Amino acid sequence: MTSAEMSASVQLADRALWAKGGAISYLMQQGIENPQCLSLAAGFVDASTLPVDLVRNATDRLLAENIRGRAFLQYGTTGGAERARRAVLEHFATQEGKAVADLGVDLSRVILTNGSQQFLSLVAQVLLNPGDICLVAAPTYFVFLGTIAGVGAKAITVETDTNGMRPDALDAKLDELDAVGLGDRVKLIYLVSNFENPSGYVLAAERRERIVEIAKRRSTSHRIHVLEDSAYRELRYEGDDPPSVWGCDPDGEHVIYTQTFSKSFSPGLRVGFGIAPTELVAPIASRKGNEDFGSAHLNQHIIASVLADGSYYEHVNEVCESYRRKRDAMVAAAREYFSDIDGVSWVEPRGGLYVWMTLPEHFDTSFDSRLFEIATQKELVMYVPGELCYGGEPAERPRNHMRLSYGVLSPDEITEGIRRLANAIRSL
Ligand code: PMP
Repeated sequence: MTSAEMSASVQLADRALWAKGGAISYLMQQGIENPQCLSLAAGFVDASTLPVDLVRNATDRLLAENIRGRAFLQYGTTGGAERARRAVLEHFATQEGKAVADLGVDLSRVILTNGSQQFLSLVAQVLLNPGDICLVAAPTYFVFLGTIAGVGAKAITVETDTNGMRPDALDAKLDELDAVGLGDRVKLIYLVSNFENPSGYVLAAERRERIVEIAKRRSTSHRIHVLEDSAYRELRYEGDDPPSVWGCDPDGEHVIYTQTFSKSFSPGLRVGFGIAPTELVAPIASRKGNEDFGSAHLNQHIIASVLADGSYYEHVNEVCESYRRKRDAMVAAAREYFSDIDGVSWVEPRGGLYVWMTLPEHFDTSFDSRLFEIATQKELVMYVPGELCYGGEPAERPRNHMRLSYGVLSPDEITEGIRRLANAIRSL
């Protein structure tokens, strides 16, 4: 027998076939292949804001704490170090405008993860079977759409406007799914409550209440959970923080909450957290235990340390100041360069990292469009095609949007990027 005959073909598990990370890899590859391109695509934070000194000082202090210092370099526990969980819960309580004792959250319900992405993935794994349904806004965070597909589940879109997912449309979608016998498959409603990636929309306060009420009312054969992803909560440049969706569920049974220190502090530390209903804590912890035994122990303590000494909050203020300027630069440039292009519109975000640009319906912004080619090859500017940010069937996804980020570029580069993008659009 020859060696070729002996080598059997690789048979991947279904999960590997369902997983689709292609869009991100493609964008990253484009960034590498076209370093001269200005990237309005990358959702990264601004490198110049990264807290080098704060992290260095916190690390020095932690490692100097002799015996415990060594413990920080040891394995931790699956759900996270108690001191760090406590600090995170206090931070969460501050945002909710409550004392920790009034939250009614046992510390065991706070789970520290490798960024909030891991928490999102763990929730998808413990709640969604293949064929199950997660209802999502249109548009929504495209990486979570990949996570849903990765567990073999379906993301079905619910009509959304500039105030976020519409509760009436959610109710109607649930009726529609009931009518075709799929109501029982709905397990999760995913909401990016503040400054949605990609749209920058904030879910209106009264909608938060209504969506939780709908999830509770429709939980008949099984509990329908609401997953609140508040990744951009702290990147607010004006206005007040509305009460969380989580706060609309005082029993703590329906809403699962997640937030991250990636946007406000450092994505490289990979520290995020989730607050889970009691019944989900053990399943999430078991999955996480199978994956990694727990998140980087030292990094959890770095976060706990900067939260405790208040330096975190000073940093967040500086970061917001910097992004506010960049948001202003993008919006001003859009007004200057897009105003004479008929049918182009956008909503000025009050926080987060993104401007969602809508072109007239006949425009195509997708990877294989002429616009993407002209933008990246001729004008040397990159954006995220809006099509990636929709659930549902590929043929039904709108192709006339772009996600633009002011995360990584300087204000001058942002202005230049928008000028180039306007040139690309005009040249069609
Ligand atoms: N949710 C949203 C809406 C995001 O935009 C991101 C990052 N792009 C995440 C979650 C995950 O970020 P991290 O894992 O760094 O916390």
